[in-house]
Amino acid sequence: MIQIRQKHALSRYRQQVRAVQAARQTLESALMDSGALVEGCLVVARTVCGKAACRCRTSKRWRHGPYLHLSLLRKGRTRMIHLPKAWEEEVRAGVEAARRFRKAHQQWRALNKQLENLWRQVERNRKHMPYEPKKKDR
Ligand SMILES: [Zn+2]
Repeated sequence: MIQIRQKHALSRYRQQVRAVQAARQTLESALMDSGALVEGCLVVARTVCGKAACRCRTSKRWRHGPYLHLSLLRKGRTRMIHLPKAWEEEVRAGVEAARRFRKAHQQWRALNKQLENLWRQVERNRKHMPYEPKKKDR
């Protein structure tokens, strides 16, 4: 027979499994969202233009802008992509959505690890001896 104490532990682990599954379900709904994800981060910077004679090259205070850029890591190098002002809201939302996605995915992986441990506990607590081993007198 399964010992009472083991039964209690088992029911506790089963409750924990349900709780982790519910939390994972919530995250999965967020991960399934189809909104656009934009890689990189938004940077506002004042820039130097391509004209050799332009005064923007003489001092930082003559630089153009401030302009909105998307900063991206490509092949180990940071690339700055200029963004038209009209795109700002959309790109900002995409960058924010990408950040939330990464965070939710990370949490999802952590929950899976928790679940993996819980299944192990469930297995341990369901195992029992088919007979009582004889206790030796000390
Ligand atoms: Zn210039």
